[in-house]
Amino acid sequence: MKNLQLAGAKEPGARTVIEVRGVRLGEEFVVVAGPCAVESEDQVVRTAVAVKEAGAKMLRGGAFKPRTSPYSFQGLGLKGLKILDKARRETGLPIITEVIDTRDVSWVGEYADVLQIGARNMQNFSLLREAGKSGRPVLLKRGMYSTLEEWLNCAEYILAEGNPNVILCERGIRTFETYTRNTLDLSIVPAVKMVSHLPVLVDPSHGTGVLGLIEPMSLAALVAGADGLEIEVHIDPPSAWSDKDQQLTPEAFGRLMRKLEILRETMAGLDARAAETAAP
Ligand code: PEP
Ligand code: MN
Repeated sequence: MKNLQLAGAKEPGARTVIEVRGVRLGEEFVVVAGPCAVESEDQVVRTAVAVKEAGAKMLRGGAFKPRTSPYSFQGLGLKGLKILDKARRETGLPIITEVIDTRDVSWVGEYADVLQIGARNMQNFSLLREAGKSGRPVLLKRGMYSTLEEWLNCAEYILAEGNPNVILCERGIRTFETYTRNTLDLSIVPAVKMVSHLPVLVDPSHGTGVLGLIEPMSLAALVAGADGLEIEVHIDPPSAWSDKDQQLTPEAFGRLMRKLEILRETMAGLDARAAETAAP
C-alpha cells in the first residue's frame, strides 16, 4: 500500500503497544465493554462493576451518539462524561468514549482515556487532525463503506499530527446482506497485521447487530488474531435507550469472557505445537 509512511508495517513482526492506565493494548488481549450510551449513573456504574468483575480491561459508553435520526437520543454530553468519570473512579477502568465534533475534542479528551472516532466519522479529516493533536490515544473505527487502504490512510492523518497511539476497530461493513446489521469482516484482522503495525480490535455488537452472533464472532475474532474486542453490555438490555437488541447482559458477557479465556489458553503456543507435531 502506497504512502503509509507511519501506519504501514515496519520491521516484520514489530507491533505497536499502546499503554492506557497500565493496560497494554497490542500486547495483552483487551476486552472493552460497556453500554452503547451513557443513560444514568446507576446504569453505568453497575455495568462497569459487572464487566470489570468478568475481566473487561476498559469501559466504553457514548456521551455523544451519532444517530441516524436527529429525533433519536443524542447522548447526555458533559453529564455523561461526568458519569463515566465516576465509574472510572469506582472501578479503575479506563474510559473509551466517542467524540463527534471537532470543537469538542480538547475538552472531551480531558475526560476520556481513549477518544473513539466512529464509523460515520472515519473520513472526517478535520476531526482526525484534532484527535491527532489531542495527545490522547484514538480508537478509529472502520467506516462502513471503507477499504483497508482508506482506513489506514485515516489512521495516517492522526499519526501525522504526532500522535502515535492509534487503535483500529473493525465494526462491520455494508453489503447486500440484511439479516445482520452489518457484515463483520474478520478477514480484515490478519490483513491489518500484514500491512500495519497498529493494534486492531473487533466490535461484534455493531458488526452483527444480532445477539446470538456476538459470542461466536468474538471467539472467531480471537482466533483471527484480534488484539481485543469492543462489546456492548447493558444491565437491562430491553430498557436501553439505543441499540437494545444487540447489548449483552452482564451474565451473558461473563459466560463469553470465560470462553475467551479457555480459548486463549487452548491457542497458547499454537505455532510451536504445530511445528512439534509436524510429520518428519
Ligand atoms: C459505537 O461504538 O457507539 C458506535 C456508534 O459504533 P459505530 O461508529 O461503529 O457505528
Ligand atoms: Mn451502539
